[in-house]
Amino acid sequence: MPHKDYPASYYAATSNQTVSRPALADHHQVDVCVIGAGYTGLSTALFLLEKGFSVTVLEAVKVGFGASGRNGGQIVNSYSRDLDSIERSVSEPAAKLIGEMAFEGGRIIRDRVARYNIRCDLKDGGVFAAFNKKQMHHLEAQKALWERYGYQHLELLDQHDIQQVVASDRYAGGMLDKQGGHIHPLNLALGEATAIESLGGIIYENSPAIRVERGEQPVVHTPDGSIRARFVVVAGNAYLGGLIPELAAKSMPCGTQVIATEPLDEELARSLLPQDYCVEDCNYLLDYYRLSADKSLIYGGGVVYGARDPADVTSIIRPKMLKTFPQLANVKVDYAWTGNFLLTLSRLPQVGRLGSNIYYSQGCSGHGVTYTHVAGKVIAEALSGQAERFDAFASLPHYPFPGGQRFQAPLSALGAMYYSLRDRIGF
Ligand SMILES: Cc1cc2nc3c(=O)[nH]c(=O)nc-3n(C[C@H](O)[C@H](O)[C@H](O)COP(=O)(O)OP(=O)(O)OC[C@H]3O[C@@H](n4cnc5c(N)ncnc54)[C@H](O)[C@@H]3O)c2cc1C
Repeated sequence: MPHKDYPASYYAATSNQTVSRPALADHHQVDVCVIGAGYTGLSTALFLLEKGFSVTVLEAVKVGFGASGRNGGQIVNSYSRDLDSIERSVSEPAAKLIGEMAFEGGRIIRDRVARYNIRCDLKDGGVFAAFNKKQMHHLEAQKALWERYGYQHLELLDQHDIQQVVASDRYAGGMLDKQGGHIHPLNLALGEATAIESLGGIIYENSPAIRVERGEQPVVHTPDGSIRARFVVVAGNAYLGGLIPELAAKSMPCGTQVIATEPLDEELARSLLPQDYCVEDCNYLLDYYRLSADKSLIYGGGVVYGARDPADVTSIIRPKMLKTFPQLANVKVDYAWTGNFLLTLSRLPQVGRLGSNIYYSQGCSGHGVTYTHVAGKVIAEALSGQAERFDAFASLPHYPFPGGQRFQAPLSALGAMYYSLRDRIGF
């Protein structure tokens, strides 16, 4: 049965508003039709509306139904692969532009929150936690790399320092990004949707795009209607399915799981994360966690290649949480859910055009809260005739998954097992 509503997550249970938007039931013409109301689609729509375009967003289920309404809520700068691998992949001028944009997404989010008065519990400060010396050296190199791009908000933490910000004895050290941070992700998406509507944009829910008729004026069809547009922006990411076969062939949906505890006693919560920073560790298959506004611990980790939903998320994630915080042994888990992100072989985003008027961005491979906001901005710039930054992203190489779609999941799982083994034995 097709989904009609949000999964039973902590975020759905604590969302600001549950406005129901109508499904598309007739035929319209606009400047831009956006497919998907996650951060990529919402950010694109908002930037386009601010530039004076008419915009319609088609969402298969509800605003923020995908990763954008289910994620760890961590504002992490840069990309899933860092700037050194981007420098090796594209020309020097493109690498410079992409490097400068690595720190723009957090600023866009903060600007949006302030400008449109979005209530999403925004907090500053994110920590990368290292288990061993090798990971500490990696963080030192990352700091030097980011500073080369002018980013000056990082502070290395030794073993003593990290224990002042995370009450866990697992870590050898870490790095604080003062302009990292965290948000209630679904409330950010809902706030952005309201901002879109305040500027005259229209969002249809329960309106999956089922066919895109390409041509001079592409037409996007839903079960009961259609939108003819000058431009189409495809922003369905891991939930797009086979709508655009070229995009499905070079990416793979993967699941990652999250739990939320019952709200913790104020003192216990403060003892775990005294400065209320969010944390992600430095493993390839990483754990990520933070406190919510009502002091639930939101803890995520684990990857399912091919995005099958595991039967019992709590039994996968709770042991990870207790390994980090054994002091939570008697704490109840109130919510457990899974969400899909889109993996690419390079773990870098795929951005481009199909013909002259269908634009897409997908595949931020696990770190997308900031990138998707930048993607919206550069797509809007490109549609307004300034494509330099869009073209820099578009020059990142795209690779098909070896073995085609059939072997995507087993081969990637094999690769992940290798990296996970490396993490465990620390080499
Ligand atoms: C559990 C989890 C935790 C994560 N944690 C973090 C984190 O802490 N920090 C971080 O930086 N990143 C994190 N990520 C990644 C981040 O959430 C994503 O990169 C980002 O939200 C992707 O946004 P998007 O708009 O591209 O895709 P999505 O948010 O998935 O949105 C796509 C939307 O398109 C809709 N759609 C699909 N097909 C169609 C169609 N045919 N017609 C109409 N609509 C369609 C879907 O219903 C969906 O609403 C996490 C991801 C997951 C799954």
